[in-house]
Amino acid sequence: MAAEGFGTAPGINGKAYPIVDHVFDVVVIGAGGAGLRAIVGCAEAGLRTAAITKVFPTRSHTVAAQGGVAASLANMGPDNWKWHMYDTVKGSDWLGDQDSIEYMVRHAPAAVYELEHWGVPFSRTEDGRIYQRPFGGMTTDFGKGPPAQRTCAAADRTGHALLHTLYGQALRHSAEFFIEYFAIDLIMENGRCCGVICLKLDDGTIHRFRSQLVMLATGGYGRAYFSATSAHTCTGDGNAMILRAGLPLQDMEFVQFHPTGIYGAGCLITEGARGEGGYLTNGEGERFMERYAPSVKDLAPRDMVSRAMTMEIREGRGVGRNKDHIYLHLDHLDPKVLHERLPGISESARIFAGVDLTKEPIPVLPTVHYNMGGIQTNFHSEVVVKKGDDPDVVVPGLMAIGEAACVSVHGANRLGSNSLIDLIVFGRSAAARAAEVVVPGAKQAELAADSADQALTRLDHFRYASGSTPTAELRLRMQKVMQNNCAVYRTGETLIEGSKLIHEVWAARDDIRVSDRSLVWNSDLVETLEFDNLIVQAVVTMDGAANRTESRGAHAREDYPERDDTNWMKHTLASIDPEKRTVSIDYRPVHSYTMTNEIAYIEPKARVY
Ligand SMILES: Cc1cc2nc3c(=O)[nH]c(=O)nc-3n(C[C@H](O)[C@H](O)[C@H](O)COP(=O)(O)OP(=O)(O)OC[C@H]3O[C@@H](n4cnc5c(N)ncnc54)[C@H](O)[C@@H]3O)c2cc1C
Repeated sequence: MAAEGFGTAPGINGKAYPIVDHVFDVVVIGAGGAGLRAIVGCAEAGLRTAAITKVFPTRSHTVAAQGGVAASLANMGPDNWKWHMYDTVKGSDWLGDQDSIEYMVRHAPAAVYELEHWGVPFSRTEDGRIYQRPFGGMTTDFGKGPPAQRTCAAADRTGHALLHTLYGQALRHSAEFFIEYFAIDLIMENGRCCGVICLKLDDGTIHRFRSQLVMLATGGYGRAYFSATSAHTCTGDGNAMILRAGLPLQDMEFVQFHPTGIYGAGCLITEGARGEGGYLTNGEGERFMERYAPSVKDLAPRDMVSRAMTMEIREGRGVGRNKDHIYLHLDHLDPKVLHERLPGISESARIFAGVDLTKEPIPVLPTVHYNMGGIQTNFHSEVVVKKGDDPDVVVPGLMAIGEAACVSVHGANRLGSNSLIDLIVFGRSAAARAAEVVVPGAKQAELAADSADQALTRLDHFRYASGSTPTAELRLRMQKVMQNNCAVYRTGETLIEGSKLIHEVWAARDDIRVSDRSLVWNSDLVETLEFDNLIVQAVVTMDGAANRTESRGAHAREDYPERDDTNWMKHTLASIDPEKRTVSIDYRPVHSYTMTNEIAYIEPKARVY
């Protein structure tokens, strides 16, 4: 029910922005795997649901997911949710909240079967069951047995299959899509989220959505780095909206490097390649992973493989003219298997590395891939904040799911194929919670007169920004600082320098220049809003990393090489003061309990594979 209203933000050029108003029960921002799963659930529950997305739904980054989705279906051998839970807790280096992990792994098989029934074209075993491949860190019998074959795959295009199926399902229900609408900022009133302000990209109109519930499903912020496997649209816009709303982000220092990005191009070669029997070699032709992880070797978790590769290169055992990368071999595998199970990466290797992987190894290098940190939620997907002694107080009207959220199931290091299952399980739980807390069609209070001011002032500020530094220049500076100073290995020295440099980029934002003043398809303006979102996340990532004086999962400090459970078994909560341009850091305890008494809390121990 759109109605015309007028914004009150005067803008630098003195003109008010006309506003189109909408009222919904639920607004979901983001139509990747997490958003679409929630949209389907909300629409199914009879809630009037708006689906807002800056790109066409099937272009969301989920489409690029290759290897698969983890669930203990036990189609290829013995498996159960308790083993999946153990692996996930250990993979997280004990930073994951075990109640949330239990929730995810218990619901995983049902969530995958649901996808199957909706039409996801999974690869099949001889007897027609869903095909499952081994992935890093996935074991049997609480780490004592051989690798688990737990990752359900549709060849190496699982995300593509999943996203297209979910979009089809969403259309089957009556969710209303707002495609190519860019969400600028949340509307927060007295600690409650009441909606969101968006820019419609193709005509420049401003839209105000009022709703009982807003779900952020806006994905990760890989593009804060120079070399990332993620799409250019992965700018973590939802995370930045949270920071601007005065709420903290959790565990942002934990950034996953995927071991096998194509050297130079950064495109991903799935871990499924090693799951199908691929292996890494150094400049001496040695299968070095045997030294670092004697039992699981090339199927060690990503943080360990990335560190091992970095170590080999540093010690002069890289490959290539500059000895600055590593080889991934698939040339010993049956070409028929490659054709059937890994057709997508065969193509990527040819296009981006000029390699025929049936004959030659692929040059690879650890590349930024996933953000373990994000918006703090409980396992109902409700956003929570710390208030006084209570670390988990629900923020009314606000939920977060998918890579944007930190629920936290991945802790300090995510296991491969645990993101897609996170999207589906928590997208589903968010919709279930929405059906409980939202009254369909309930009358909503009028928004405050100034509800659009913050968003429109920000938009207007950048639209007329007339400094001397183009956005692209600042973005590159930020990406280089993150890549150099907040990498696979970190030290106090590089992080303190990194903090200084990244704060300088944040300050230099005042001198930004946008040359296009229009509002219609203004990519200069949208990229500037995205950069403004990225820089605040870069700053809390760097400062969080400088602050955490231990090594845990993906956060590897050379000056503090050990995990320190006495002082650091806690989540980082980082928030910003946008005026003073400062970061403040607080903590929240890791949940030391499970969801049910069917499994006991898994006690921390050394993480060896
Ligand atoms: C190359 C690659 C391969 C991967 N392979 C696997 C795999 O095999 N298995 C696995 O488990 N994980 C994999 N991952 C990780 C996983 O795919 C991602 O973590 C996951 O897809 C993120 O999904 P999402 O729904 O949270 O966000 P996304 O899919 O990134 O979607 C974000 C959505 O938010 C919208 N949005 C963002 N900002 C705004 C805004 N300001 N206004 C409006 N809309 C906005 C976008 O339009 C988009 O619809 C892979 C990741 C990459 C990069």
